Amino acid sequence: MSDTPALPTCACGRDRRHPLVIPEPVYLRGGCLVWGLGMGKLPDYVNYRCRQCGEVFDKTTDVAIRRQYR
Ligand SMILES: [Zn+2]
Repeated sequence: MSDTPALPTCACGRDRRHPLVIPEPVYLRGGCLVWGLGMGKLPDYVNYRCRQCGEVFDKTTDVAIRRQYR
C-alpha cells in the first residue's frame, strides 16, 4: 500500500512532473465572452502529453495551473 496516490502515467511510465511531459492548454470556447472579464483567455484545462510516446495521459482543471498558459 502506498501513502501517496500515484499520478497517472503514460505508456512509458512518466508522470506530469517529468521534463519530457509537456502541458498543452486546451480552449473549448471562443475568446469573446472571456475578454469581457479583463483577465485574458484562460484555457479550460491543460493536457499533459508525453513527448516520447505522444500519449495524453493526464489533465488538470486547476485554475492556478491554467493561469500560467493563458
Ligand atoms: Zn510516454
